[in-house]
Amino acid sequence: MKTSFNQKDLYWNPVVETLPLRKLRDLQLKKFKRILEWAHEKSKFHRKLYQQAGLEPGDIQSYEDIAKVPKVEKSMMREIQRKDPYPYGDALCVPLEEVTEFRQTSGTTGVPVYQPDTWQDWEWWAEAWAYLLYAQGYRKTDRVFLPFGYNIFVAFWAGHYAAEKIGCEVVPGGVLDTEARILKIQELKATAMMATPTYVLGMADTAKKKLGIDPARDLTIRKITCAGEPGASIPSTKQRMEEAWGAKVYDHVGATEIGAWGFECTAQPGGLHVNEALFLMQLEDIETGELIEEPGRKGKIVITALDRIAQPCIRFDSKDVAEWSKEPCPCGRTFRVIRGGVVGRADDITKIKGVLIAPSAIEEVVRSIKGLSNEYEAVVTKKGDLDDITLKIEFLPEEEKNREAILAQLKDQLRLKTNLGYNIEVHPYNSLPRYEVKAKRFKDLRKHG
Ligand SMILES: [Zn+2]
Repeated sequence: MKTSFNQKDLYWNPVVETLPLRKLRDLQLKKFKRILEWAHEKSKFHRKLYQQAGLEPGDIQSYEDIAKVPKVEKSMMREIQRKDPYPYGDALCVPLEEVTEFRQTSGTTGVPVYQPDTWQDWEWWAEAWAYLLYAQGYRKTDRVFLPFGYNIFVAFWAGHYAAEKIGCEVVPGGVLDTEARILKIQELKATAMMATPTYVLGMADTAKKKLGIDPARDLTIRKITCAGEPGASIPSTKQRMEEAWGAKVYDHVGATEIGAWGFECTAQPGGLHVNEALFLMQLEDIETGELIEEPGRKGKIVITALDRIAQPCIRFDSKDVAEWSKEPCPCGRTFRVIRGGVVGRADDITKIKGVLIAPSAIEEVVRSIKGLSNEYEAVVTKKGDLDDITLKIEFLPEEEKNREAILAQLKDQLRLKTNLGYNIEVHPYNSLPRYEVKAKRFKDLRKHG
């Protein structure tokens, strides 16, 4: 049941996805002014923020003016939560009875933020996901399996609705356990699925070890959409997933407070398109805040959801780090590409022994070494005044005999790709923590003593 499509059938929205850059900017400016006025009028939180900065919505006349609008940090959203109108606080722009969806952030970095959406917002969520699924080749002929817990986190909820919107057949794999999910995929001959990279690899492991099923050979999944972790944009992790499933693996980025703002297309250009019809993404220098338009320079993502009305996301300081790609994508979309996806979090990119490092660089190395399992953990500590980094790994049981050669290769690659020396700790196979959803494999313990 493999899908096929011709060149003419590449885009969900052929008009906006190929708009010349200048027209895209005009569209973004027009939408930005509209959402800014809306928030200024309807939300006390936003009005106060702009008044304190001496800014009126009418002050924004050009694309460049947008940089004058104050940014919103997650901590500011946290402060208004659980206040009136309960439980969202005064950034809510619609009467409470207009809210149809409740979701909350996963709270891996603190108290969760609650996110209200109206039905119009929810349709917008599905529309954003439709762009990305269509770009990844989802069509009416697909039977899509969703192996995730349908709960208070937004996760793949909008992916479910978007797949329906495209016309796919959607199988909700909610409360089933991993084995039952795999058997259902096999029985129904599902062609596509959506999951976190951690779970994609975990499912393949379970299929092989517990059920004697080789996903690449015995199952019919041919495309996988990932979200929630950067893995699908890390070449070695992507390769592990694609080999395990015999499928194309595509990345997608989004967040509860923002929406589904970026996606990889079937051309797999080594990066993600930003959906510039629905979002305005700007890159700012991490230290100076200067706007970065040129390729090849890393900056912090400041992003606006241009059409989301219940609790608007305007100039949200996402703390994600990315850089613009030099090359346009061969798929023909004019939506710009961020090279290598989101390359880290501004909070996670840290100096160890004076060297700037993004945790994803460690993952790239570990997953590129054939004899190692998918699991690892990096722990940074302080010994006296000196930073110390320990990398915990597991050998695959069948590779134990090549231990010394693998270790030598690992140390070489780590030094080459991250410029750091590590204490390597070998743990027995299957003893490091396994994660179902979002993994926490990088631990910086220096701040906590
Ligand atoms: Zn593309």
